[in-house]
Amino acid sequence: MASPAPLPPAEVDPGARLVLAEHLLACESAVASARAVVEWLTRRHGAPAACVGPLEGAGASACLASEGLTGAQQAALARAWDAHGAPLAALRGRPGARWLPADAVEGAGMPGGFLAVPLGRAGAPAAALLVVGLPGPAVPEDVAWVASCAGPLLARQLAPDARAPRRPEPDRLLRRVINAVSDPVLLTDTGGTLLFANARAEALLVADPDSSPGRTRAVQLNQRVFRETLAQGGTTVHRREVPLVDPLEGMDLIFELVSTPVLAPDGPSVVVSVLRNLTDLGRATQALGESYRRLRATEREARSERHRLDRVLDSVADPIILTDPTGGMVMMNDPAERLFAWPHEEGSASEGPAGEAVLRRVRANDALFASFLANLLGPVNAGVSRWKSQLTLDDPATGAPVPMEAMANKVLGDGGELTGIVTVFHDRTEVLERARLLERVKEVSSELEARVQAATAELAEQNEKLRRQAIQLEQASAAKSQFLANMSHEFRTPLNAILGYTNMLLQGVSGEMTPPQRRNLTRIDSNGRHLLEVINEILDITRIEAGRMPLHLSDFGIPELLQEVMAEMDPIIARSKLAVETRLDEGLPGVWSDRQKVKQIVLNLLSNALKFTHEGGVQVLAEYQNATGTVAISVKDTGIGIDVSNQEKIFEDFQQVDSSPTRAYGGTGLGLSICRRLAEMIGGRVSLQSAPGQGSTFTLHFPRRARRT
Ligand code: ADP
Repeated sequence: MASPAPLPPAEVDPGARLVLAEHLLACESAVASARAVVEWLTRRHGAPAACVGPLEGAGASACLASEGLTGAQQAALARAWDAHGAPLAALRGRPGARWLPADAVEGAGMPGGFLAVPLGRAGAPAAALLVVGLPGPAVPEDVAWVASCAGPLLARQLAPDARAPRRPEPDRLLRRVINAVSDPVLLTDTGGTLLFANARAEALLVADPDSSPGRTRAVQLNQRVFRETLAQGGTTVHRREVPLVDPLEGMDLIFELVSTPVLAPDGPSVVVSVLRNLTDLGRATQALGESYRRLRATEREARSERHRLDRVLDSVADPIILTDPTGGMVMMNDPAERLFAWPHEEGSASEGPAGEAVLRRVRANDALFASFLANLLGPVNAGVSRWKSQLTLDDPATGAPVPMEAMANKVLGDGGELTGIVTVFHDRTEVLERARLLERVKEVSSELEARVQAATAELAEQNEKLRRQAIQLEQASAAKSQFLANMSHEFRTPLNAILGYTNMLLQGVSGEMTPPQRRNLTRIDSNGRHLLEVINEILDITRIEAGRMPLHLSDFGIPELLQEVMAEMDPIIARSKLAVETRLDEGLPGVWSDRQKVKQIVLNLLSNALKFTHEGGVQVLAEYQNATGTVAISVKDTGIGIDVSNQEKIFEDFQQVDSSPTRAYGGTGLGLSICRRLAEMIGGRVSLQSAPGQGSTFTLHFPRRARRT
């Protein structure tokens, strides 16, 4: 165990405390510290002094150092300090100095009394006692200072583990030098046991008993890591990185450990280790690496962004050119390259006269583009941010003119400075073609319009003509109807008179006639009746056409109506010798229609059936068709029948199947046409089913309830 150098002679200057403090720092044992304190106080105050504390191995206190006291006095003080309940021992648990009279400690015998000062850490029981032979209770400032300074030191040095055999100490100067080194420096044996550590190394690898559990754990961890790293070094100079923990802050630290075995003549005995803190360096390297990685990532991003931009630009069908602030081309997409770039690809027609033509056109396009860009470049145009113009470029490959609309936009930097110009071209060929087509369509449509107008005018003229003709026809028809009506009337009156007189003559009013006279008169009568029939029918038609035959709607029953018809036709039926029967549907309802017109139609159909049937019979059938709400009255005969080719014709005015002068059947050819008109007036129609030699069926269909039209 090394002791500090002896204290310098007592000094009274202010630096004396510093001297003692430095001296105490160098003291490695409690005895050395106690001696330094006692000597210093004795020299300061010229009074006897002693320091009592636990003596290692003895189990009791002893005088660690004393000045001016006999051995008996020292032993008495040590006993009194250990004697529980005695006034001196009572000071163990009570901080602060106390003055005791000379007889307070038996055998100590300090004339005039003494100051008893407990030494130790604040808040803990005293570890030792300082005694200074001073005559009064006043505690000199120096004594209080010494107690506060040396107390914690002695307490540490007197602690059981501190009293263990101490490691060999290097030379004091060397210790100071090593302590002054800013890196942690350690001296260990070859097994890694710590022999000496400077203050910085202690902070990392030494925990004192008062250390917090956290710090203690951190130190233990550091010790283990340090020992393991050291063990890898062997007997050569060894350089390694050691990850340690800052026991105070808990932060991870990286050190470079340089351990150098110091060889003794009989082999390596100790290892000197220096730790260099690389944490900041590591952090800086890490930060550098990080920013390098970021830089690479940004670069990659920028490159892929550029590729993406290229792809986007190339996918645009319109040519796009990016130029720098001086108008130099920086980038262009494929469509722009076709117009403004000389084709370098292998196999392209870049040589010969054709190649020269291509080059000439590309140059012409470039020149046009440059003069277009001049509108945005230069200080004069600083205020212009975009420029639009129409250019006619040449297709370098074919020489065909390409009408383009160019739109250039300035690209400004963050500071508003011009960084480039983006020009987008738009091919106007299609637009122009569309405009041309539109123009043509307009021309054609105006031609068409003129033609339509002319045709419309012609049509209007024709319409007007037709209208006039229609009026004329109407007037003519009305005149004809009027004429026929008048004529019929004019015919009927004298004809009736003729028939009347003929009848009277035949009845013998004017005397008996000879058979030839009677025969002739009968002929006059029959022809007169035929003429009357014709006149009556013409009168009916003209009345219908002139609208002078109004509808008279009423409720009536079909059976009664048919009975009447049969009664009226009875003489003719009897003459015909045909079987005529009437068959009525069971559920035949009453009808609301023009009874007279229905009767006239049925009479006409029945008289025709009787006329054109020579054998067999005639059936009159009536039925109601619920689904359509119509009544159907059919006159079915077994007569001569009508060929299909005549079935339409016979419904027209004056039309007969046989209209020759030698025809076998009489008649006017007006009956069916009157029937058709009458049927239409009551909202119905007349249908026919017939075949030559197989008879005919004429059917009147009419609504059960007629609507007035
Ligand atoms: P008309 O009987 O006075 O000649 P209609 O107009 O009544 O005039 O008939 C026109 C023609 O239709 C008849 O001349 C006849 O040729 C044909 N016709 C009409 N009814 C029948 C019938 N039941 N069977 C055969 N032919 C008929």
